[in-house]
Amino acid sequence: MTRSETGGARAVGEPVLQLHEVSKVYPGASPLVALDKAGFSIHSGELVAIVGPSGSGKSTLLQIMGSLDRPTSGTVRIAGDDLAAMSDRDLAGLRAGRIGFVFQQFFLAQHATALENVADGMLYSGAGHRERLKAAAAALRRVGLAHRAGHRPPELSGGERQRVAIARALAGNPAIVLADEPTGNLDSVSGAAVFKLLKELNAEGTTIVVITHDRELAAQMPRRIEVLDGHIVTDVSSEGEATTGGRHLP
Ligand code: ADP
Ligand code: MG
Repeated sequence: MTRSETGGARAVGEPVLQLHEVSKVYPGASPLVALDKAGFSIHSGELVAIVGPSGSGKSTLLQIMGSLDRPTSGTVRIAGDDLAAMSDRDLAGLRAGRIGFVFQQFFLAQHATALENVADGMLYSGAGHRERLKAAAAALRRVGLAHRAGHRPPELSGGERQRVAIARALAGNPAIVLADEPTGNLDSVSGAAVFKLLKELNAEGTTIVVITHDRELAAQMPRRIEVLDGHIVTDVSSEGEATTGGRHLP
């Protein structure tokens, strides 16, 4: 496949993340199929929304895309490497260096400043303290929070806290940022601002996958993958063409 065949009209690069027939079954008295043969590829430079109702399998998908969990079957590749062939230790290293995570609950240390929170996100990157602080300051500038760097989370608004978490995800210059319902704890105005920021960061070159159950926010994204009951039911880009791996409803 050439880039133009997989990328449509958008300028996209190499595949960063490839899922092939990924299934996840949670064991139990009645095992639950949370993902059923899901497949798609994310290319460098893309901005993708994964949308679907609560319980459809979005977080399960993000956990598997981010190597936080292993699929029951199927293949996950990050930058071409098959995750099944990697040890848990290798995966931890991969996550630290290549993937930035953003969660609904922010997960910030309450007693640390915004700058320290962002710098601590790079603790396992191998960078020294000074280098981490420098990268953290630059990341806070990118999200428009340089003036709040010395403040602790309780002194920040919800929208500002999520921007700190986004700065933390960006600081190590990851190949991809995965955000799971980043606006879930925000009012609609702050939520819209977070989506605007994600679009700006993508325009600067960051590859981003954002999960949301908010169809209005998802509709602003250039590509949308819709999940329903563990199936990928649509995978469309704004150019109107289907992209890789989507299964379409009849
Ligand atoms: P979403 O993020 O779209 O709300 P999830 O991926 O969290 O969906 O959940 C998909 C389905 O898998 C749901 O039915 C949920 O209850 C179930 N599920 C999620 N995590 C687990 C788990 N650790 N153990 C058992 N079932 C789970
Ligand atoms: Mg979820």
